[in-house]
Amino acid sequence: MMENIVNIRITNKCNNDCMFCLEQSLRVKPDLSMENLKNNIKKKFKKTVKNELIITGGNPILNKNVLKIIDFSREMGYNKIRIIFNGNFKKALISREELLDSGITDITFLGHSCRQDIHDKLCGESGSFSELIKSIKFFSQKIDLRICVNVNGLNIKQLPNIVDGFIKRNIKAFDFLNYFPVERAYDKFDEYLFYNIEDNFDYFQRTFEILQKNSIKSWWNRFPEYIFENYEFLMPRKENIRNEITGDEYKMFESCLKNKTKPVCFGRCRFCFLKNFCTQLFTKKFARKQFDNKPVCQGGKGKFDTTQNHIKEFTLDNFFDVYLKNNYRLKGIRCKFCRYDKFCSGIFIDDVRDKGFKQMIPM
Ligand code: SF4
Ligand code: SF4
Repeated sequence: MMENIVNIRITNKCNNDCMFCLEQSLRVKPDLSMENLKNNIKKKFKKTVKNELIITGGNPILNKNVLKIIDFSREMGYNKIRIIFNGNFKKALISREELLDSGITDITFLGHSCRQDIHDKLCGESGSFSELIKSIKFFSQKIDLRICVNVNGLNIKQLPNIVDGFIKRNIKAFDFLNYFPVERAYDKFDEYLFYNIEDNFDYFQRTFEILQKNSIKSWWNRFPEYIFENYEFLMPRKENIRNEITGDEYKMFESCLKNKTKPVCFGRCRFCFLKNFCTQLFTKKFARKQFDNKPVCQGGKGKFDTTQNHIKEFTLDNFFDVYLKNNYRLKGIRCKFCRYDKFCSGIFIDDVRDKGFKQMIPM
């Protein structure tokens, strides 16, 4: 049965102040009224499919209407209601007991380390780690729990321990989100958050190994694909790249195209998951001639298709279509040892998913 997943932000307030948060600018904005929230929940509900509501913030338990919203959604017929928050009940307007009794079906906690000092530093709030652990203990075994880890320079070297530690606390699923070099996360905290992903390849591999060994589900967002070598099944679906650019970011990219400018973060792209996408979009550097679409190690010329000629009107949407079809190509860490590395544009993402990075044979 098809699933309809509805995201709803019920507050902009938060009781943590995370270094990597991309929503600082929203904190001062007022929350939507209860009536507006109900209308959105109702409007997005689809009768003939399974409906999952994901309640986000800020920290949703700082909205005094959170229990009424859960109640309303349950009555509407939402099959699953997940709440995503930091597990910190300080200043919350409801208790853990009330949340448990509300009819919520799933919780995602934001947990960024198994060490109190690092977690509290990343969250900008002392005591947030002990609050998180209290919440995990309280809800564990009673409700499906997932942990969302923001991966960054302060925690990458502990990633295998973080996963191991949370698995021991009975966590059965993880979301991982990579550091994104924009706004305050970059302007103020880049020296802590930035990390060289290639240098930390082994920490990712050890983390994948632990997840696989324990049959733990995981979802990875905003990571460059080469980290998934040997674990290609964990690579996000290729359409995800389109879902990552929505809302304000979509508007920003569109306005850059219209005004013939580049994003403010252009130049910080070395370890960004959008590196290839943005390079092609904003420099419009495409090959002029039609090539055979194969890398040199597979007997081809290693060059791009003639994308620009296929795009009648150069809009973000049109570019996405062509990028996903023709130009979403990957290279592996192993390509660094290949003499064709500098000009070869790699293998289509679909082929990597099917046959793995191993088909790239450095020459
Ligand atoms: S790849 Fe794109 S989104 Fe990422 S840092 Fe560069 S310009 Fe910004
Ligand atoms: S190993 Fe990598 S760089 Fe070398 S030809 Fe193959 S895909 Fe290209």
